[in-house]
Amino acid sequence: MEDPVDISRRIERLVKRVQRRDDYGRLLATGQVIHLVEQVDDPEAWRADIKRQARADRIKVRTGQTGDKLWAFLHGPVPEVQMAEEERYFHLLDVLKSRAKLRGHSLKVTLRDGEEALLGCEQCDAVGYADAASGPLVGGALFEEDCSPGKLPGTSAAG
Ligand SMILES: [Zn+2]
Repeated sequence: MEDPVDISRRIERLVKRVQRRDDYGRLLATGQVIHLVEQVDDPEAWRADIKRQARADRIKVRTGQTGDKLWAFLHGPVPEVQMAEEERYFHLLDVLKSRAKLRGHSLKVTLRDGEEALLGCEQCDAVGYADAASGPLVGGALFEEDCSPGKLPGTSAAG
């Protein structure tokens, strides 16, 4: 288990990174990005930029405009290295689900970026952090403390 301070720092960094993630990053993470044309300053430049980054990564994408929607999606097979990362992530997630369950938690993924995830519990406010690429590196109350469903955020004991 990692130092709790380090875990909370990692969670903070993960949240910030996802918040400012650009469209290309979202495309890689979710397989597609769609915007209303009016929300993009220069649709041609937007498409060119996505394609340029994809070429650099040797990833095939399709971009286009349909009606008032501007879109890009992954096209063709995802490179093997990314497939391996996906497998590693989902395998870790399975392991962590069982581990959280031992403490009575019902694990959910709050936020994911590549192989890094912020995890939570469906029944209480416990959080957890996992990075499948670093070891894996895992930490947080989700794996260290028992589930206490009464302690939902915003609910008072007096209620
Ligand atoms: Zn819980």
